[in-house]
This record gives sequence, structure tokens and C-alpha cells, in this order.
Amino acid sequence: MDLGIKGRKALVCAASKGLGKGTAMALAADGVDLVITSRGRDLLEATAEEIRKKHGVKVTAIAGDITTEEGRRAALAALPAPDILVNNAGGPPPGDFKTFSLEDWRKAVEANMLAPIALIQATVYGMMDRGFGRIVNITSASVKSPIPNLELSNGARAGLTGAVSALARRAVRRNVTINNVLPGWHDTDRIRGTMASRAERAGVAYDKFVADALAATPAGRMGTISEFGAACAFLCSAQAGYITGQSLLVDGGDFSGLL
Ligand code: NAP
Repeated sequence: MDLGIKGRKALVCAASKGLGKGTAMALAADGVDLVITSRGRDLLEATAEEIRKKHGVKVTAIAGDITTEEGRRAALAALPAPDILVNNAGGPPPGDFKTFSLEDWRKAVEANMLAPIALIQATVYGMMDRGFGRIVNITSASVKSPIPNLELSNGARAGLTGAVSALARRAVRRNVTINNVLPGWHDTDRIRGTMASRAERAGVAYDKFVADALAATPAGRMGTISEFGAACAFLCSAQAGYITGQSLLVDGGDFSGLL
């Protein structure tokens, strides 16, 4: 399917690996030129080169922490007027609600709520003036079904979802959409780290913990970053202009609610 976005320009945050990379790849496959970011420079440059070689699009790599003003300024300097914005960053650490400090909460809100809000504020009005824009926030399945010990993530991501909901309804009149994509378990470094910490808490060997956990899911496996990226790319397509303010689970059916 031609997504109708060839030649568009996208800022994909936190994309040297994992879900951000999967999304950058999927957009590039449809001819979108990219600015990608991550804190580490070497892997980011390697990923940029991999995407260029595979899909022949322009890819600019901007190293920096997207959760800081400086990092966002650098990303926006490379692409001040993106057609597509994919918000993403590392997730907050797991822990015990009893021992989280207010500083832990502030960091989580800064990274997973305020950083995407700042990028949306900086880009959405230009998109509306130009009559095209697609914004995707990579959040978490925890927005629909909060995960124990990931309260910092549960809270910050639910806050972001609520904060942009009314704006998503306003922007759609100018062909600008804002949607959230909620990963379940995708095979990335982040999820392997989360699984390792849960296995340790449960006192179970990592391989057994992962095998048992996946056997209990409808799909019986983790998702891939390309499956995830394809879902994000569709929400960035020309054809998706009538989908806004939604939270799309990509979790192999793990959440078993009707709606
Ligand atoms: P990952 O494989 O660890 O990749 C994270 C990517 O983000 C890397 O490129 C990393 O590069 C970059 N990054 C992290 N913090 C950054 C920052 N402050 N500024 C710029 N770049 C940053 O993680 P992932 O699994 O793709 O997860 C992406 C997001 O989805 C996370 O918020 C995670 O909590 C959430 N999530 C993932 C899953 C899943 O199934 N994988 C499920 C639920 C939620 P550098 O380290 O070099 O910066």
C-alpha cells in the first residue's frame, strides 16, 4: 500500500534502535526523509546509514537528549517544520511506589509527558497552517492496563494521553492528527531489561520467566519492531487523516477489553 507520504519530512525521536528505529525504517520505506535522534552518537550514525542504504532517503542523525531543551532545540534546528513527528524516549525505571521520590516522578513526567508536549507545541501549529501533519506518541500498553512497579511510566504516559486529547480534535480540521501507539511486548533491549528485573523479583531464571510469560499471551510471542513501525507509519499516512485522538494497542491481543 502506498501511504501517500513520499517526500514528506519526519522527526523520529529516540530512534537508534528499538521501536523508534522500527518506525523510522517503516517511514523511510515509504520515501519519507528523516531526522532521527538518540543520546548515543555511534549507533545513531550506524542506524542512519543503514536506513539510507536500504531505502535511499535522506537521513540526518542528531545526537542529543530529547528530554532536555537543548536536545529538542538541536532536533528542531535540523528540521524546524516537520510534516511528521514521532515522539519517543526511554521509559522510566521500574521500582516500588513506596520508595519513589518526588524527583523520580519529576524525571518521569519531564521525559515521558513534558518532552513530547513541548515538541508538539513547537510543531503542530505550523502543520495546521500548512494543512498536513501527523503526530504519533509512542507510549505504552500501560496506559490501558497499568503495570505494577512501572507506576512512573503509567502516570506520565496517561498524563500525555490526556493532555493532547482535545488538541487532537482541534487539529484534525486542518488535516493534522495526533495519535498514541501503545506497545505491548516487543523484542527490544528495553523489554529484555524489564523482563530481567521482573524475573529477578520473582526469583525465576530469565529464560523460564520469559517463556512462561509469553506462553500466557494470546500471540505467544513478542512483537517485532517492524510490526510496530508499520502500525505507526500507517497512522502517519495520507489515508489516516480521519483517525485522531486514538490510542492504538499493538500488543498481540494481550489486553482483553472490548474497547
Ligand atoms: P530501546 O530498545 O531501549 O530503545 C530506546 C531508544 O531510545 C534508543 O535509540 C535510545 O538511544 C533512545 N533514547 C532513550 N532515551 C533517550 C533520550 N532521553 N533522548 C534521545 N533518545 C533516547 O527501547 P524501546 O523498547 O524501543 O522503547 C521505546 C519506548 O517505548 C520506551 O519509552 C519504552 O518504555 C516504551 N515501551 C516499550 C515497550 C516494548 O515492548 N519494547 C513496551 C512498552 C513501552 P540512546 O540510549 O543512545 O539515547
